Amino acid sequence: MSLELSPSQCAELIRGSKRVIALTGAGVSTAAGVADFRGPNGIYRTGQYDPDRVFDIEHFRRDPREFFRFARDLAGLMESIEPTFTHRFLARLEAEGMLLGVITQNVDPLHHLAGSKHVVSIHGDFAGAHCMKCGRAYTYAETLERMSKAEIPRCDCTEGGVIKPDVVFFGEQLSQWPEAADLAAACDLMLTLGSSLQVHPASMLPRVAPGAVVVVNQGSVRLEPGPGRYFVDADLDEYFRAVSECLFEGSAPLEPDSRA
Ligand SMILES: [Zn+2]
Repeated sequence: MSLELSPSQCAELIRGSKRVIALTGAGVSTAAGVADFRGPNGIYRTGQYDPDRVFDIEHFRRDPREFFRFARDLAGLMESIEPTFTHRFLARLEAEGMLLGVITQNVDPLHHLAGSKHVVSIHGDFAGAHCMKCGRAYTYAETLERMSKAEIPRCDCTEGGVIKPDVVFFGEQLSQWPEAADLAAACDLMLTLGSSLQVHPASMLPRVAPGAVVVVNQGSVRLEPGPGRYFVDADLDEYFRAVSECLFEGSAPLEPDSRA
């Protein structure tokens, strides 16, 4: 464990910043039971699914059945999971006016379920879906219902187009990327949580952040050291419980910043 920034210093940094944003990766959801796709127990490592195929848009166009098998498994998993402390902490920060929004690499709905309003999902999510022929929009519930009745959910249009969830596949544009890049470029504090910063292009966001960057992750990350760059190797929920106590309970006295 390495703490370049104590929880009370982190709380002080949040309190002293005006444009705080968060960037989250798989690590925020692993405690909720969503397997880190590429982690040791990740859904990709079980041998059941080959991510390079499941999320390949060309493969999907040829044969979407494997993707929908995966999507059904994921939907089953989603019914049994709940947001973690860290998800709820970020939602509270936003509600208290201390956080502008969350940029996430995750496709699960946990930030929304926790109550976050401004969520920029750079890899898309399952909240919506569209017919690949006529473009008609479907909600998650409508898509699920059609998935339960047929191997491949199809639209009512004359062409019977495949209904594709709004998850970004390999080979597709990151439609929310411009908003994510704008947020990152204008923030004065970026909390980067549960991301090893190895997946491009999300890994670029901390580099364009002009202010402080606090990276909290269990395990090593790819972060260039520099002034205003802090790395905390810790359990996310444990760390932010302590930060939350300093911020909202106001009991713990703030420690002097040893870097000042
Ligand atoms: Zn259609």
